[in-house]
Amino acid sequence: MKALVFSENSSLAAQVISGLKSVLDFSVAVPKDEADSVSEYGAKEVISLDGNLQTDAIGKKISELMSSYDFLFVPSTVLGREVAGYVSAALGQIAIPEISKFEIADSKCKTSSLSLGGKSIIDVISNAKVLTVAPGFADQVKVPEKSKISAMTLPDSSITIISEEEKKGTGVNIESAKVIVSIGRGIGKKESISVVDPLLKVVHGELAGSRPVCLDYQWLSEDRQVGLSGKKVNPNVYIAVGISGQIQHIAGMRGSKIVVAINRDKSAPIFEECDYGIVGDLFQIVPKLVAAISG
Ligand SMILES: Cc1cc2nc3c(=O)[nH]c(=O)nc-3n(C[C@H](O)[C@H](O)[C@H](O)COP(=O)(O)OP(=O)(O)OC[C@H]3O[C@@H](n4cnc5c(N)ncnc54)[C@H](O)[C@@H]3O)c2cc1C
Repeated sequence: MKALVFSENSSLAAQVISGLKSVLDFSVAVPKDEADSVSEYGAKEVISLDGNLQTDAIGKKISELMSSYDFLFVPSTVLGREVAGYVSAALGQIAIPEISKFEIADSKCKTSSLSLGGKSIIDVISNAKVLTVAPGFADQVKVPEKSKISAMTLPDSSITIISEEEKKGTGVNIESAKVIVSIGRGIGKKESISVVDPLLKVVHGELAGSRPVCLDYQWLSEDRQVGLSGKKVNPNVYIAVGISGQIQHIAGMRGSKIVVAINRDKSAPIFEECDYGIVGDLFQIVPKLVAAISG
């Protein structure tokens, strides 16, 4: 069976191709600047899109292309979700959102996806053709031979951008950090964040946090939030301090190579996701960890 991936982000597209190329033949459509980097992951064809990258223009072009494909996979970004909505409406097909698993079962698709606002995972069998894909779907695996690249021009868009203003942040980029110390609600109050300062120093880490810490309480700036609605990070080491490990948080840190968790509740879900787990009070454990690392 044949599938098309659309994404404005070549890494997210590469995750889908890497995860499913053993069961589906893939073509991938990306903006022309991303075409070369996505050509290394085993798609049969890379379609390099030139022109106005607006939802309606992309949606129209992808809908036309879908006559040659059984499925459309769209990594879940803001633009991706808009395009998936456009295409599923144009094709008169249902769309399954935020899948984390995909299988073919009797020519239908069997998917697992987040549901109830991310509170649970639902497994369904359906005739869906359009699927949005949760970040961290699979590891990206390069193949020796590059895909052939063909160019396509997008049709005109009815959308005109009249102004654009960059959102102000602190300039921190946790997405490129090699070591992250991430704090959760377990830290208790803003003033207690200083307990991780010595740890950040000895591991040369960047500070990040869960959604309650960054968004609800604003103890850290929003650009430090890790998770489904925050940043997707892939450091060598991710140290989760006082974080319970809900699925929406895990969605942002699944790409971490080594995960260390400190939590006083031994049944916290974060312990299912970590390589090294320490059960205990973070205010006692963190100084001991610093002393152990410092030698
Ligand atoms: C649509 C949607 C999107 C979301 N997006 C995100 C997202 O992007 N990122 C995100 O993080 N969340 C997100 N959430 C929220 C998510 O569901 C959780 O509520 C959140 O991740 C919990 O944050 P937490 O682990 O800091 O807090 P809690 O779940 O309250 O966990 C705190 C943990 O600290 C431990 N603890 C307490 N005191 C101590 C101590 N002294 N020492 C050691 N451990 C201690 C507790 O045992 C507990 O496990 C989203 C939710 C929805 C519905």
